[in-house]
Amino acid sequence: MNDRTLFEKAVHDNAFRVLISKEELRERIRELGRQITADYRGKEPIMIGVLNGSFVFIADLVRAIELDLEIDFLKISSYGNELTSSGRVQMLKDINADIEGRHVLIVEDIVDTGLSIKFLEEKLSALKPASLKFVTLLIKREIAKVDFDIDYVGFEIPNEFVIGYGLDHKQILRNLPAIYVMD
Ligand code: 5GP
Repeated sequence: MNDRTLFEKAVHDNAFRVLISKEELRERIRELGRQITADYRGKEPIMIGVLNGSFVFIADLVRAIELDLEIDFLKISSYGNELTSSGRVQMLKDINADIEGRHVLIVEDIVDTGLSIKFLEEKLSALKPASLKFVTLLIKREIAKVDFDIDYVGFEIPNEFVIGYGLDHKQILRNLPAIYVMD
């Protein structure tokens, strides 16, 4: 059958290897939520999701955090349809909130080369937040070059191209419920 969608192949035909299951994601995100709740107790943080990839993660993460918090989004350019990083980062949609004096938590789907997160650190720290921290669901630690702390990391993964749970392959497959490796 050639008319199977890539989604069907992933979910029903085991065409791609599961790297992190739905259950593992749920459990780890619950832990991150507990940790963030404890660390920000008494504060009202603003969580900024980096589009497009973080939209699924941030939706689950904020529901695991028991605090008053705000949510905003920004969008930066990344790979396009290539499987390797282009090395250039551009702001495609900026935040609307004024973050001066606020406790800001940036929510990323994945840190690969670290270029995006470095760009965001420079850009947002210039806006004088009271604090600026990062949470990423995934990090490819072998290749990430980041000269500051990433405060909350969901999973360290090998240097492989992953899809699902917000992460795309040519703009599709973001709706896969787990993280898969695309060989
Ligand atoms: P960095 O700037 O750290 O190299 O890359 C960050 C961005 O590249 C991520 O937010 C994501 O959009 C994209 N990216 C990096 N690695 C992967 C991957 O394995 N799969 C997918 N789908 N996107 C990735």
